[in-house]
Parts: sequence; C-alpha cells; structure tokens
Amino acid sequence: MEKLDNLYREIIMEHYKNPRNKGLIDDPSYVTVHIKNPSCGDDITVQSKFVNGIVKDCRHDGHGCSICCSSASVMTETVIDKTTEEANKIADNYLLMVTNKSFDETIDLEEAAVYSGVRQFPARVKCASIAWQAFVETLKKGA
Ligand code: ZN
Repeated sequence: MEKLDNLYREIIMEHYKNPRNKGLIDDPSYVTVHIKNPSCGDDITVQSKFVNGIVKDCRHDGHGCSICCSSASVMTETVIDKTTEEANKIADNYLLMVTNKSFDETIDLEEAAVYSGVRQFPARVKCASIAWQAFVETLKKGA
C-alpha cells in the first residue's frame, strides 16, 4: 500500500504540473459537459469527440485542486482511442473504486488505478470523481 501511496502522489503531481489534453476546442463535433464541485472549488469542463464508436479525442479545462486537475488529465489519457463501451466500463469501475464500492478488478484502469488511494480521504472523493463523471455525461449525450 505504501508503494501505491507514493506512486499516487507522484502521478498526481506530475499530471497537475504537466496536464495532458488541456484546453478546450471550439468545434461542434465535440460533446461538452461542465461540472462544479462546490465543496472545494473544482470547476471542470470535459469535451469528447466520438467517431464510429471510438473516443477519438477527450479534452479538459478548468481549475481546481491537484487531485481534480490531475485526475482530469489522467482520465483523458486513459479513454482516448478506447471504444466508447470500453471507456464507459473503465469510467464506471473507476467511480466505484474511488467511492470504495466493489468494482471489477479485472478491468485495467491503467494509470487511473493509483486513485484507489483517494478512498482513504473521503473529502477528496468528489475531487477525484468529477472529471470522470463529466466524461460519462459526454458519453450519455453524444456517444
Ligand atoms: Zn478538489
């Protein structure tokens, strides 16, 4: 568990400092969803582009704490180039994991798996969830 804790911190700081796929695109083929977390000021917009059942692109922008911003960056890297079905499964499992519910451990969450550490900090669960929730909403709206 200690190793995972260190990896968790490292990945959070790395993605917080160097966010991937950050910045929104003015393109109507993207599905846009905006979510706020009033408890700590996180404010995230996620944009997804779906082509033939594939997540062709996923972008994020906004501001918030390190957990929120880093998880948005990790999320985009995890879902891009997946089928919408795979991406949806990963997102569902991730959200079950961070909320400390039973989840399917056979599904590879890739780098996002380190956010299992957030279960120890209930106040931060929402921070780790909102980018993924926003992505799930883009799937519902546009996939
Ligand atoms: Zn937060």
